[in-house]
Amino acid sequence: MKALVKREREVGLWMEDVPEPKIGINDVLIRVDRTGICGTDIHIYKWDDWAQKTIPVPMVVGHEFVGEIVDIGSNVSDFRTGDIVSGEGHVVCGRCRNCMAGRRHLCAHTKGIGVNRPGAFAQYISLPMTNVWHHDHSIDRDVASIFDPFGNAVHTALTFPVLGEDVLITGAGPIGCMAAAVAKHAGARHVVVTDVNPWRLDLAKKLGATLCVDVRTEKLADVQRELGMREGFDVGMEMSGNPDAFRDMINQMNHGGRIAMLGIPSGEIAIDWNKVVFNMLTVKGIYGRRMYETWYKMTVMLQSGLDIYPVITHRFHCLDFEKGFEVMMSGQSGKVILDWNL
Ligand code: NAD
Ligand code: ZN
Repeated sequence: MKALVKREREVGLWMEDVPEPKIGINDVLIRVDRTGICGTDIHIYKWDDWAQKTIPVPMVVGHEFVGEIVDIGSNVSDFRTGDIVSGEGHVVCGRCRNCMAGRRHLCAHTKGIGVNRPGAFAQYISLPMTNVWHHDHSIDRDVASIFDPFGNAVHTALTFPVLGEDVLITGAGPIGCMAAAVAKHAGARHVVVTDVNPWRLDLAKKLGATLCVDVRTEKLADVQRELGMREGFDVGMEMSGNPDAFRDMINQMNHGGRIAMLGIPSGEIAIDWNKVVFNMLTVKGIYGRRMYETWYKMTVMLQSGLDIYPVITHRFHCLDFEKGFEVMMSGQSGKVILDWNL
């Protein structure tokens, strides 16, 4: 089968012929239909410090996908061939304290597909049945292919109650844009999104942000005045990984404000801890998706009218993957989809 492989310890990815994956008794074999390109795939493509430390070579990359089940292991009873499914990209151990308690998103032994085990940028992928999410036929196929990052947005946006609250999202990447749509859908009043990229800020507007702020030219304090907010943001969602964005957020929160932090900083960030202490802020790290509460909420919110379709801005055939990576790296895109029907 064809697969996109990190073959060399250098910049780039290679479309290779590799053996089809085998399934164990508890696994399903999925024929991949569409995939989404993630920031993680860009790190791997660029072969940055994180990728060099993390990715064994060769590795089939990619983890955002939708496809059709074509084979099931002898122990699998809940899935059938023909089912349309996505995969939860974190394969957990199932045996640690958190896994045993049903807190699988907190497993300390998580393996990532397309990172530590063969990924989804391929014609076929094999996954344990416990990592498979069955899609209702009402879910659009392109949207189904990005349930993984959509899940990051939903997990973050629903971590603290947003009904009637004023929300600040720093970073209008695809995940920040989807989080804006989710926060609005979940009943937030103002959803203010910041970025330093006007293209991305326009995208956030299309996904329903109340106000989009280019922090290079505008101050959040002025924006709050403009919106008639007197006491600061109630809920913050950090989705840039940028130290200035995080510091700005801490300064703009109401006393007792709650921050969900998804963005991955490239190093340590110094903040004014007095603000955290005296303003009694909560900062909570967010990783992955809740298994499978986040997946459930994603499906149900789409069925109840949430529209994240505009976040998908480009589509390419998998053989044109270079174009997809190029547009991702330009910063002038939302989600980029690759079609794996050869
Ligand atoms: P992205 O890189 O596409 O988006 C980040 C955005 O932040 C960009 O548009 C960038 O212009 C913007 N930005 C840069 N400096 C800024 C500043 N000073 N103020 C405001 N915005 C600024 O990333 P994404 O795919 O949307 O993901 C969002 C973040 O979440 C990334 O940091 C990513 O690494 C992280 N992530 C975390 C998890 C997790 O499980 N914790 C999962 C997926 C992604
Ligand atoms: Zn575990």
